[in-house]
Amino acid sequence: MPAVLRVALPLPLLTLFDYLPPEAGVAAAGSRVRVPFGRGEMLGIVIDPAAEATVGKGRLKRTLEVLDPAPLLDAELLATLSWAAEYWAGAPGEAFANALPLALREPRALPATGREVWAMTLQGRSALDAGSRKAGSAALLTALADGPRAADELQLALPGWRAAARRLAEAGLVEKLDLEEVALPASPAPGPALSDEQSQAVDVIGAAFGRFQPFVLDGVTGSGKTEVYLALIERALAEGRQTLLLVPEIGLAPQTVRRLRERLGVAIEVLHSNLAEGDRARAWLRARNGTAKVVLGTRSAVFTPLPKAGLIIVDEEHDPSYKQQEGFRYHARDLALVRARAHGVPVVLGSATPSLESLANVDAGRYERVALRGRPGASQPTQVRIVDMRAQRLDHGLSPTLLAAVTDCIGRGEQALVFRNRRGYAPVLLCYDCGWHADCPRCDRPLTLHARRRRLICHHCDYTAHVPEACPSCKSANISPQGQGTERLEEALTERFPDTPVIRVDRETTQRRDAFDTLLSSLRDDKPAILVGTQMLAKGHDLPNLTLVAIVGVDEGLHSIDFRASERLAQLVVQVAGRAGRARKPGSVLLQTHHPDHPLLHTLLRSGYGAVAKELLAERKLIQLPPYAHQVLLRADAHDRADVDAFLIQANEAIGDPGDMRVAGPMPAPMPLRAGRHRGQLLVEADTRARLHAFLRPWQYALAALPTARKVRWSLDVDPIDL
Ligand code: ADP
Ligand code: ZN
Ligand code: ZN
Repeated sequence: MPAVLRVALPLPLLTLFDYLPPEAGVAAAGSRVRVPFGRGEMLGIVIDPAAEATVGKGRLKRTLEVLDPAPLLDAELLATLSWAAEYWAGAPGEAFANALPLALREPRALPATGREVWAMTLQGRSALDAGSRKAGSAALLTALADGPRAADELQLALPGWRAAARRLAEAGLVEKLDLEEVALPASPAPGPALSDEQSQAVDVIGAAFGRFQPFVLDGVTGSGKTEVYLALIERALAEGRQTLLLVPEIGLAPQTVRRLRERLGVAIEVLHSNLAEGDRARAWLRARNGTAKVVLGTRSAVFTPLPKAGLIIVDEEHDPSYKQQEGFRYHARDLALVRARAHGVPVVLGSATPSLESLANVDAGRYERVALRGRPGASQPTQVRIVDMRAQRLDHGLSPTLLAAVTDCIGRGEQALVFRNRRGYAPVLLCYDCGWHADCPRCDRPLTLHARRRRLICHHCDYTAHVPEACPSCKSANISPQGQGTERLEEALTERFPDTPVIRVDRETTQRRDAFDTLLSSLRDDKPAILVGTQMLAKGHDLPNLTLVAIVGVDEGLHSIDFRASERLAQLVVQVAGRAGRARKPGSVLLQTHHPDHPLLHTLLRSGYGAVAKELLAERKLIQLPPYAHQVLLRADAHDRADVDAFLIQANEAIGDPGDMRVAGPMPAPMPLRAGRHRGQLLVEADTRARLHAFLRPWQYALAALPTARKVRWSLDVDPIDL
């Protein structure tokens, strides 16, 4: 009896679908197939080419076409994806769809894998020397001055470069090359001689090549983790093996790519969300055929095929952007571990502030910790001081101590960073006569005042409103902004330091991808300047003349109900502080707070992140929270609160007797209303992963079958990082 094809379709359903084999062609596990679905067609991935039909063959439809005679997804990826769908309670089809670049999810033959490369012509060089061109053209010519560049790299460095390329190509100044395998960079540039500590780290990790071993590379900022990565990647290259290097969303700067390319002397495949779909698919395919040796990317790059895997690195492994927060809610760091195990290769989790999860794994002996304590590039350790705000008169939220430190800093000709994790001018607009404040009608949360744009904006749903002239409630004109955002700090600092450039870096000033880089490269010429910004500033970018970091407004984090808030706050403070004194000049850090005696801040300043992490872990163990317990969060939202409540009550009943598991809720979400929808949740917690997962799938099927489920939007989040 001929078997059927079992296929994953990109639908939010837990099932796979069976089809009769095609009239022509043979499908393998991992091949894409075109199949009829409903009145149309779909593209699916064959999971099992010889499954036994579970329904009568007469009811099955026939596969229309096999698109890949050889499997597109190899056995390792297929197995990993099936595991991942199961683990994160995802729909298998959605997990598979996540893994494939969009261009490969269409029923077309595979594109050629050549890299699109652009080069400058001889006329181009003379034109560059002659100068005076449109900004976009000049930028492209400058980018090509040192040699040909791949389209995907240009896309990262200069979004919108294509228009310039077209103009310049018409004028004969640049040309497109199409190379099957480009040996773009020439010989690798030498790096600094590694410190003893760095060499030791390379030796220890290098000794694990060829087998699965997780490492936590625990190194303070500036300790030279990147140099360790580079040395390890060189080893992998020497063995002809591939390296996958994951970075958080804000870490993927053109600067990083350049550094890797110059140092390694090979093409770096960059996979990120800003890439044109064709380029993304080609890069993915080059990884699949093994020609791409170094793959650098953000979260979704964890799905890159690695037939010759040698090494996997997750930089800033504690970063929350590794967790996907919608649809298929996987965690890229955890998937990196699974893939490393499947390939039998070491995986390096690097961070100055490792996640409590990873530290618990070190304690349990599952991961090996490799520490870097020195800062080879810097001369002295950074001094951190607490500024008690309570007794001080504040100027737009800035204490005299802080302002004096900034004055000294720029007086020495150096640069200062003022960190505030809030965009906009002020987080609240308040009437001093009646207490009215501007709230988002769709979220019930204060609207942020953006003064320059003259708008009130909701940071949760992007609702915008005009700024009222008078209080809408009592008509008083006595309304004014409360609290400070980056825009207000920028204004206050500009007023106080009129002769020093004040540069604001947040989502608003860096809408375009290259804006961040441009802003920061203007700082690299070492003139005095003041940077104001959000956590976009916490990472990347060496600014050798930056010697003062002032952190304002961390107090919200000290009193959050989210049990991860303390961990996040400690990580943020350490990461931001790490921006100071990256060069030979000593750096200092000021932490301005209303709670100078808070135990977390005390431990952090006295004993460092490691000590904080130890205390937090002990606390989590005591009250049985992750990583010592395992959670799944059921979220639901609807226009009607009653629908949410009804669903969650039934969902709770569907658990039956929870036994040794703990159930919290149904309860309102931390934001009970968002974008006009009411939100609620139910949390289930178990002491072991196995216990939780034994419960999970059956419950999920039960939920899908609930009559109330159709009236809400609901999802399960396994190992949620935001409760
Ligand atoms: P991390 O990623 O740990 O914060 P980096 O790898 O970016 O640190 O290194 C921080 C700075 O120190 C960089 O400017 C780097 O060039 C420099 N550096 C790293 N290792 C060495 C070394 N062995 N000798 C001299 N400078 C080094
Ligand atoms: Zn009023
Ligand atoms: Zn809103």
